Amino acid sequence: MSADPNCIFCKIIAGQIPASVVHQDEHSFAFMDIAPLSEGHLLLIPKLHCERLADLPPELAAELSRQIPRIGQAVLNAMEVDGFNVLVNDGEVAGQLVKHVHFHFIPRRPKDGLGYRWHAGEYAEGRRDQLQARYQKAMKGLGSRVTD
Ligand code: 5GP
Ligand code: ZN
Repeated sequence: MSADPNCIFCKIIAGQIPASVVHQDEHSFAFMDIAPLSEGHLLLIPKLHCERLADLPPELAAELSRQIPRIGQAVLNAMEVDGFNVLVNDGEVAGQLVKHVHFHFIPRRPKDGLGYRWHAGEYAEGRRDQLQARYQKAMKGLGSRVTD
């Protein structure tokens, strides 16, 4: 599907809803988040309507990825920050509200109060190996679509 008439980001791409656009090319589009987590918060999206990260055709994912360093450098230069977070909320459980894949670029500043509850855990004996086997099986099942 090239555009979803009910999708707010497709409407932004089509110019039906105004947005502060900072980049666009044939495949990708970047604009300022209307409700920023921090000043300068950007969203990078594919022009094609895809709901989930895993729905992205690999060639389109590659086109989108080509812009990541460029947008990242623009965040550093334009916002005069030393770093940023790139975040994808994939699926409702992960906090995805807009059903059109998007990469958040969130400029970080010292003591900005943002961040994760990054409570690193640990694996019980053997558990990591079990999960690795599951991943290997899953990757094999996907064939070369993801990786050989
Ligand atoms: P999600 O929770 O789906 O990862 O994030 C969706 C993001 O889209 C939110 O950060 C939200 O502020 C942003 N957003 C939602 N509607 C609009 C809009 O109409 N214009 C812009 N520029 N950003 C939007
Ligand atoms: Zn869309």
